[in-house]
Amino acid sequence: MQVYVNGEFCEKEDARISVFDHGVLYGDGVFEGIRVYAGRIFKFDEHLERLYESAKSIDLAVPLPLDRMREAIRETVRRNRLPDAYIRVLITRGVGNLGLNPYQCEKSGLIIIVDKIALYPPELYDRGLEVITVATQRNLPEAVNPRIKSLNYLNNILAKIEAINAGVEEAIMLNSFGFVSECAGDNIFAVRKGMILTPSISMGVLEGITRNVVIEMARGKGIEVKQLVMTRHDLFIAEECFLTGTAAEIIPVVKVDGRQIGEGKPGTLTRELMEDYHRLTREEGVPVE
Ligand code: PMP
Repeated sequence: MQVYVNGEFCEKEDARISVFDHGVLYGDGVFEGIRVYAGRIFKFDEHLERLYESAKSIDLAVPLPLDRMREAIRETVRRNRLPDAYIRVLITRGVGNLGLNPYQCEKSGLIIIVDKIALYPPELYDRGLEVITVATQRNLPEAVNPRIKSLNYLNNILAKIEAINAGVEEAIMLNSFGFVSECAGDNIFAVRKGMILTPSISMGVLEGITRNVVIEMARGKGIEVKQLVMTRHDLFIAEECFLTGTAAEIIPVVKVDGRQIGEGKPGTLTRELMEDYHRLTREEGVPVE
């Protein structure tokens, strides 16, 4: 495996950064997770846009201009010779002292990792997931806005810990008003009366690239999509439920907090969207070569 670290390629074992990098000391930085399907980078520009926007929001200088960033990522994918892969891009605040001041850090750091993708087990895509609501609330947008894909994922990790300890794979997080926001690492959708529902961005969610693809695909099929305020009740009474994410793609949910969703198996519309999504990932994308 070849890893890009601050302008140089090195073997996985030699990929190192300073312990004084504020990315390590404080989780001060941003990242992206991007998929490569059959040698093409899916929704590359959308991911890059979100990366630069996350950086802008935390006043972090991206070490490369967009065209050179695009090329560095493509080159890292090429060197790893994986036609299907997961790309992780990290921008760290860089090396500083033990104080918080980010402006005393030297240059921002850039890391690009390309690896095989570890999905949920395939049978869960056939059977559907069970999820629970956890006590850990999603970060307040006024504190650490969930729209920023920051290196500080402790909020999500605390939720994930609760889910795993309860014996399920994913956690639904509520915002401080008790409304549904998103899962620890995925966005959430419900289907009811032929409509697709998902919490609006203002509920404190990451504006998922997969979320946007699903909304666009559904509207393209003439299905009404609503981004709204949702409670757990809206999930309990849904006919179908599914999660979306770059790594997870679209995964059906069949149980929420012990309540069976619909008939307790992946819904018809969910399955249709899963198929459409797979088709799209094979048809679109920026070639690596
Ligand atoms: N919410 C959170 C908290 C996430 O970490 C992710 C994964 N990046 C998502 C939603 C899904 O976003 P995307 O579809 O862009 O991967």
